[in-house]
Amino acid sequence: MPEWYLYGRYYKRFGYMSAKGITDMLYLPNLVFNHFLKDDCLLVAYGGKIVEEKPEEKYRLDRYTGFDEMIWGNEIITILCGARKYSGYDIRPYIEQVRQKKEWLQKAHPSEFGKDVWDCDVDLLFVESLECPECKRSLRVMRATDTADGGCDVVSHCVWCLRDWQWHCDVQGWQSGFERYFHG
Ligand SMILES: [Zn+2]
Repeated sequence: MPEWYLYGRYYKRFGYMSAKGITDMLYLPNLVFNHFLKDDCLLVAYGGKIVEEKPEEKYRLDRYTGFDEMIWGNEIITILCGARKYSGYDIRPYIEQVRQKKEWLQKAHPSEFGKDVWDCDVDLLFVESLECPECKRSLRVMRATDTADGGCDVVSHCVWCLRDWQWHCDVQGWQSGFERYFHG
């Protein structure tokens, strides 16, 4: 399967979804329940635009036409990163919306998501990880420093062999220059 088919849980089943040829996306955060992304939805169109045709409809999903897929939960991050990489999409406005969702959650549900009990680095959520070449397991991204080209320099850690790795990630999310990282 081509690499732009991204693995995840879609429509409550594990499978693949294409991140190529995406022409429009609409993020619909749920501002009722105490979940970060679980009840949020991302509408995706592979051709044309998503239109709010019936704003009076009670259920928000009934208001829109022009979308082909609905993405829920953590796969929203997967598909947004894929759209950046394989569809050349500028996802910065979506990252900003996810950041606003996080801030809403912290204010609306302080006992579970207040700043002293929960935190999440939204920018790091959108830094795709790579595999440790020794352990073949996903590295934990520790840090991403913005660079002049609009991308970032990433430092990551392997919790299995405790080695650190670094690479550069360009503005579309393509990685290069993978190598060992030594502190200091
Ligand atoms: Zn390792």
